[in-house]
Amino acid sequence: MGENSSYVVVVFDNITAKKELEQRKDDFISVASHELKTPVTSLKASLQLLDRMKQQSTTPAMVRMIEQANRSVEKVTLLIDSLLNATRMSEGHLDLQLSSINALKLLKSACAHIQTADYNFIFEADPELRIYADENRIEQVLVNLVNNAVKYAAGSSAIHLKASREGDQVKISVRDFGPGIEHEKLPHLFDRHYRVDFSGMQYSGLGLGLYISAEIVKKHGGAIQVASTVGSGSTFWFSLPAA
Ligand code: ADP
Repeated sequence: MGENSSYVVVVFDNITAKKELEQRKDDFISVASHELKTPVTSLKASLQLLDRMKQQSTTPAMVRMIEQANRSVEKVTLLIDSLLNATRMSEGHLDLQLSSINALKLLKSACAHIQTADYNFIFEADPELRIYADENRIEQVLVNLVNNAVKYAAGSSAIHLKASREGDQVKISVRDFGPGIEHEKLPHLFDRHYRVDFSGMQYSGLGLGLYISAEIVKKHGGAIQVASTVGSGSTFWFSLPAA
């Protein structure tokens, strides 16, 4: 330290306690989400039955409540699935069922759950282009990216979904024209539980979608990235082996 001195300062920090705390938190989340899964699954089954019988119901208010209950239970199910997936992935349990998949079909099916009349989805891909991947897992990644575009870039004039060949890889991207993300936050986006606007709580979420997506893409040997400019929008993309 200093110009003419020969002292060195060494700082030791015991991280064992922090690691133990992290592990206990993970264990708690894992047990809690497993315990929640069974009753919520039976609740969902009952509500779906009620939904099918709702036309026989007596009042319009009851129909509305049944529909609302179904939407809410669907959200709870998705949250529990995210927690379960995240725990599984952090423990390294992720088996892939690889097959050859048509890229354009994949792009379209990842938007099928959204009322397309409300959003302007634009698809761009060679109809012959194919990737070699686990179809369900990769659809989960794309659905996450599409849901984020719809949620965080609600006013976007369009959402572009594109697949293009780059050497022996296929690059798949989701682009929105929403508010964008500040430059210094970009490196943390794929971290577990990271949320940009955590304090504002404007949108609910667990900060797990991008973490899970990154784990799935990495498991395929691919890469996932984001580019974003505040005021212009964001592009999330990942690359996977071509089939
Ligand atoms: P969650 O949506 O549960 O917060 P994610 O991991 O999917 O978790 O996203 C992490 C954060 O990244 C979000 O909280 C949001 O702030 C930001 N984000 C993700 N996608 C977009 C997007 N298309 N535009 C702006 N911000 C985004």
